[in-house]
Amino acid sequence: MIKIKVEKTASRGIAIAPAYVYREVDLTPDHYPVAEEKIPQEEKKFTDIKQAVLADLEQLSQENPIFAAHIAIADDYTLQEGIIGRIKSGKKNVQQAICETVEEVAEIFGQMEDEYMRERKADVLDIGKRFLIKCKNITVQDLAAICEPVIVVAKDLFPSDTVKMNPEFVKGIITEEGGVTSHVSIMAKNYGIPALTGVANVLGNLEDGKTVCMDAEDGTIVIEPEEAVLEDYRKRQEEDRKEQEEVKKYRSMETVTPAGKRIYLCINVGNTEEIRLALDKNIDGIGLFRTEFLYMENSHFPTEEEQFAVYKEAAKLCPQEVTIRTLDIGGDKSLPYYEFEPEENPFLGWRAIRISLDMPDLFRTQLRAILRASAFGHIRIMFPMMISVEELQSAKEMVETCKEELRREQIAFDENIETGMMMETPASVLLAEEFAKEADFFSIGTNDLTQYILAVDRGNKKIASRYDSFHPAVMKAIAEIIRAGHKYNRKVGMCGELAGDVNAVPKLLELGLDEFSMSAGNVDYVRKTIIG
Ligand code: PEP
Ligand code: MG
Repeated sequence: MIKIKVEKTASRGIAIAPAYVYREVDLTPDHYPVAEEKIPQEEKKFTDIKQAVLADLEQLSQENPIFAAHIAIADDYTLQEGIIGRIKSGKKNVQQAICETVEEVAEIFGQMEDEYMRERKADVLDIGKRFLIKCKNITVQDLAAICEPVIVVAKDLFPSDTVKMNPEFVKGIITEEGGVTSHVSIMAKNYGIPALTGVANVLGNLEDGKTVCMDAEDGTIVIEPEEAVLEDYRKRQEEDRKEQEEVKKYRSMETVTPAGKRIYLCINVGNTEEIRLALDKNIDGIGLFRTEFLYMENSHFPTEEEQFAVYKEAAKLCPQEVTIRTLDIGGDKSLPYYEFEPEENPFLGWRAIRISLDMPDLFRTQLRAILRASAFGHIRIMFPMMISVEELQSAKEMVETCKEELRREQIAFDENIETGMMMETPASVLLAEEFAKEADFFSIGTNDLTQYILAVDRGNKKIASRYDSFHPAVMKAIAEIIRAGHKYNRKVGMCGELAGDVNAVPKLLELGLDEFSMSAGNVDYVRKTIIG
């Protein structure tokens, strides 16, 4: 039996299940020399691998037509010629030959004029991966294939991994990296999965199938528990279930403070399924729809029609209010079909509104989709990562341009749609009054605001104890945002993780926060605390 204790918990709850150890695969090609007489052998290796990959893809394409393009690429003449040529004349082994050729061909696709062809670069890289996996005889773990209750334990999980997990079977998440507001924590909270992040050296103690108990309330993990400990965790689980039942009783009540102020309780979501799951929680709306997940789950930039369908569904599911945040990609969120240039400091880099303003076609597509969906409910547009009033004005101008287009095309939209902004940079705090004159509403993003005010990376476990949203400097920033927003009669909400922390509720009420938006799992607890 091994016990581990961590200081901070990422997503509350208690879980008992076998471990599913998720290990990253190393696809670095082996460097072995190829003697002249072994060349035919290497060639044959490639032909066999190609056949095996094609067979896999045929199977996949029956479930999803997207893989038809992959088949064409895997069977592509240029790719084969490049690989065989490198084996024959370059005396490269098959792994090196694949690696070099795939990189070269992917680069050619990446330079193409046509957008569709440019996006095929990701497919070429994916084929290269499939070839190498077969060459190295690696068994790849597929998080989407988990179909029994497990606790997933990994070095780190990226949003692109977490989107694949089925919350029905993933009972808990433990990662060695990451902080409490890293995106793995947020995803876990949205789905109500207990999670502990920044757990040093947990992988060294684990194998698949070993029983793990985790209490993401007090931050404890026990591997291979003795019977008495197991019993204790079962009891905790039962108590937790009872507590959940208890707070549920507040659901039917209006969220009003003892002083009589009506508070708006909203949820943060990354897709419409999460809205559906939270509809029975008596919410006042969606305070944050993170649209980047729609982009991350796709194999291409989602089209206007694809986005429109999702936003329209959200608007209809939640007629009270849906705040759609425009694309917040970059930082720790990447896209499988678009290569971001490596950056020294991605969280200080090309991220969020910066990308949208630099890629007007991309921005326009999203805004048109949001505007069209606004005809079906109460949608608000929210811009992330603002640092200057000029940026906000440019974003709003783009909204106006899209509105003008839609009017010309006689397509309906909400003429009075509100445009607001995330308050998550120090610049937005210092310019809060100027922003308040331009923005219809504010939503405080404490996850980023904390990391930027304190200069503490939100995902770095080494400094996790320094990442503190209760820090007086962060509280001062929050107070200033609320003051400035109220001066211009703006509704001020909060959609960072702090809004879902019951310990923060009294202070945030005292500062005058109007709207709390959080992971659905926290709503009952926060409502109870507000009502008092
Ligand atoms: C935030 O920064 O507080 C926020 C809500 O945005 P995200 O966590 O998606 O960066
Ligand atoms: Mg943010």
